[in-house]
This record gives sequence, C-alpha cells and structure tokens, in this order.
Amino acid sequence: MTRRVVVIEGEDAAPEAMRPTLELVEQLGLDLEWQRPPVGAAAEQSHGSTFPDEARAAIDASDATLFGSTSGPSARALFYLRWGRGTYANVRPARWFPGCRSPLAEPHALDFVIVRENLEDLYVGVEGDLDELAGSNLWSRTAGRPISELGPGRFALKIISEAGTERVTRFAFELARRRKAEGGRGKVTSGTKHNMLSHSDGLFRQVAGRVAEDYPDIEYENFIVDDFAHRMIARPGELDVVVLPNLYGDILSDAAAALIGGLGLAPSGCYGNDYAYFESAHGTAPDIAGRDIINPTATILAAVMLLRYLEFNDAAESLEQAVTRVYAAGKALTPDQGGSASTREFCAAVAKRL
Ligand code: ATP
Repeated sequence: MTRRVVVIEGEDAAPEAMRPTLELVEQLGLDLEWQRPPVGAAAEQSHGSTFPDEARAAIDASDATLFGSTSGPSARALFYLRWGRGTYANVRPARWFPGCRSPLAEPHALDFVIVRENLEDLYVGVEGDLDELAGSNLWSRTAGRPISELGPGRFALKIISEAGTERVTRFAFELARRRKAEGGRGKVTSGTKHNMLSHSDGLFRQVAGRVAEDYPDIEYENFIVDDFAHRMIARPGELDVVVLPNLYGDILSDAAAALIGGLGLAPSGCYGNDYAYFESAHGTAPDIAGRDIINPTATILAAVMLLRYLEFNDAAESLEQAVTRVYAAGKALTPDQGGSASTREFCAAVAKRL
C-alpha cells in the first residue's frame, strides 16, 4: 500500500536540508508518495492564504508529514499539525554517535529521549493584559496580594490537564518498555517545578506517579526541574526516557541537543493517536540561509523516525547507518561539526553509503 507523506519545506535554510533529505529517502525505493500542498508565502500568493483548505485536506489524507522549520509563514500549518491533529507527544532523542562534536569529555553513554508534552502548559496560547484579571478574585500566593495590585502588565495561562498528562506519561512509559526490550535501561524520569507550582506541576507529578504504578517493570523517578537540568548536564548517561511538561521540554531538549553536538543533529517526532509529523528540533537557521552549509543530519534523522513510524524499518535502519558511518569516517562533515563540507557534499557521502 502506497504511503502518502506531506512535505512542507519551511523557510530560510530549512529547504536546503529538506530537499537532499527527500532525495536520500527516494534512493531507498520505497512505496512512498510525497505530497506538496501549497503552504506558506507561496500559498499566500497563489491561494490568498498561508494554509489553504487544500493543504489541510492533503494533511488529512496523508499518513504523516515531514516538516521543515518555519520562521512564521508556515506556522498555521504547524499549528494544525500539532493542535488540529492532536500530536501530543513530542519525542526528541539525544543520542551521541562517534564523530559528533559533543562538548562532553565522555559522551559515549549519551542515549536518552525527551518526551515533551506538546499541546498544553504555556503553549495553549492564552495571554492577556493584567487589567483583564482585575475584576477577578485571583490572588498572588507568593506576593500575598491580589492580582489587581500588581500594576500594569501581562499574563499567560499555564494549563496542565489530567488527561493530557496521563496520555503523554503513558506514552513515555510505553517507549521505555520498548527501549528496554532492545537493551535500554527501562527507566522514566520526570521533571516538574512542583515546589513552586504545586497545583499545576504538582498535578503533572501526581499523574505521572500514578501512571508509573502500572509499569512495575520500569523504574521511575521525579526531580524538581532545575535539579533535573543539572543532572541532565552532569550525568546524562543515567537517563533513558524523560517526560516533561511542554515549556521545560522545549527548553531542555535544545540543551540535550547541545550535549550531543548541536542543534544540527537533533531530530524530533510529534505523535498523536492517529497522526504524526516529523521535523528537525532546530529552527530555520536564517543566519546561514542560502549558503548550503546547514547540517541536514537532524532532518535526515527526522526522516528516519518517519520511516520507522510508517514501518519501513529496514530502510530506516539503512539510512541511519549511512549517516553514522559518515560521522565515523569524519571526512564529509558540515562546519557546525568541525568539517568543511557543504550540505550537498554531506548528503552525497550519505548517499554513497546507502
Ligand atoms: P527559531 O526561532 O526558528 O528557532 P533561531 O534562529 O532562533 O530560529 P535556530 O534556527 O535553531 O534558531 O538557529 C540557532 C543557531 O543554530 C543559528 O546560529 C543557526 O545557524 C544554528 N543552526 C541551527 N540549525 C542548524 C543546522 N542544522 N546546521 C547548522 N547550524 C544550525
């Protein structure tokens, strides 16, 4: 059965990583069809909208999406992929392999996955002026004053729901179980700021602890998120699967990418109950756009995650192996990894090893 994948190239340097990635996947000869609906600035020109109905229909009719990063014009498509399709678990692996320029002296044991809750927390997009809260009875517990006395300012709402937390923590435990079956540590770590945010993060912690009881075969630990950040940098080898509320997950997964050697290496997959999309963890790298030097590894490894999701497991394995062999050889690396190869030269080296 032909699998349909929507491709959204994104902006700035993102297409420079996406295009050669698609060529590499094409080289694998899979029963896979790319769909390229109009999205972003070009769609605005041709259809009068950055995310026309036809693009939404293409996503709905597809098995998954491969997304290049966006600096804004493709954001409506991204919001639909996330909130419209309910992709609640953002999986961001941090795995070092030889040749990656890690700042750690001993990066060998670095192989963990951050599962970031993808839909809630401060990302529900409810912000406003403090004036709007003036008539409410809201009270600052820490300042010991009503909100109305805090003066002019703004607020953002942090939402942690029971159901949203349960599904993402369950996802993390299931992932830990699958990793354990393949030799993983069989551990889930969560990080919350429950000492300050006893209601919201406290609930996340409470639900995660309850879900943990259903997985006696998986070790579970929780840390205050600042302590977790320190542990992640100081002893990353002790981690396996990490589950975090949205904002902490967003920030700490970029820090995790730095541990393995930089944003250019870190892929990401966002999974819902019936849909998933894949992208690099980095942004559009506008400062290096047009120079053919963006490291496409994150995008290629996102494609590897896509292929696994579509159950093209052997192909995924081949592509991943080809990438790791290029790093092991160390001859065709991009500037962010200390090399002088262009994006295209790196991809040609991967293609040769496929
Ligand atoms: P956004 O707001 O979309 O995240 P940004 O510019 O803040 O965009 P990134 O695009 O992730 O963040 O870039 C941060 C820095 O990392 C930039 O200097 C960029 O060039 C560099 N960078 C990001 N991705 C890569 C990559 N794949 N290869 C090389 N350098 C990269």
